[in-house]
Amino acid sequence: MTTIPIIEKILSANDRLAAENRAALDAARVFAINVIASPGAGKTSLIEQTLKALAGKLRIGVIDGDLATSIDADRAAAAGASQAVQINTGGDCHLDAVMVQQALPQLKLDDLDLLIIENVGNLVCPASFALGTHKTVLVASIPEGDDKPYKYPATYRGVEALVINKIDLLPYVPFRMEYFRQGVETLNPGLAAFPLSCRTGEGMPAWLDWLAGQRRK
Ligand code: MG
Ligand code: ZN
Repeated sequence: MTTIPIIEKILSANDRLAAENRAALDAARVFAINVIASPGAGKTSLIEQTLKALAGKLRIGVIDGDLATSIDADRAAAAGASQAVQINTGGDCHLDAVMVQQALPQLKLDDLDLLIIENVGNLVCPASFALGTHKTVLVASIPEGDDKPYKYPATYRGVEALVINKIDLLPYVPFRMEYFRQGVETLNPGLAAFPLSCRTGEGMPAWLDWLAGQRRK
């Protein structure tokens, strides 16, 4: 006997709830993204800079998944999120559709244009659990190394946009951009990719244009 049927059952239950989440978001005309990355890649920094840039143009809500603290949701609120909700997973290494379903009633969806969900820092399982968002955005970063697409192919295959953060560190870190991007292209041809630095702001406009454009689709 194998455990595969059990995993399939859990995932299909998750998919059903994710579809319900999507329906609630669509009914309120909220465009939602699921932001995944390894710890320290800069998910919260990207969300902060996005909030600062789009404040006044879009009403943005943030759901922050975290193992234990509310540090990231506090940062989102400080950066200008119109609404911010924390999900403490109690040690779980990913968000799932149930957790998001429980968080959604804490938001006034009708008062939002965009919802950003920051997943738990983890490059493995967040990619397997649909949340009901419209797009999944992977944040990679230069210090993680250029081999990550080769080591985490399922994650790189399952996303609709890729932010390559901390490009200001390229002069100091051995990172072969060409090798990295070849790996990405093999797994996910034509993937929208945004090399940028949350620290210096370089490359941010292209990411913000993509995000604003997606919302209108
Ligand atoms: Mg964070
Ligand atoms: Zn997990």
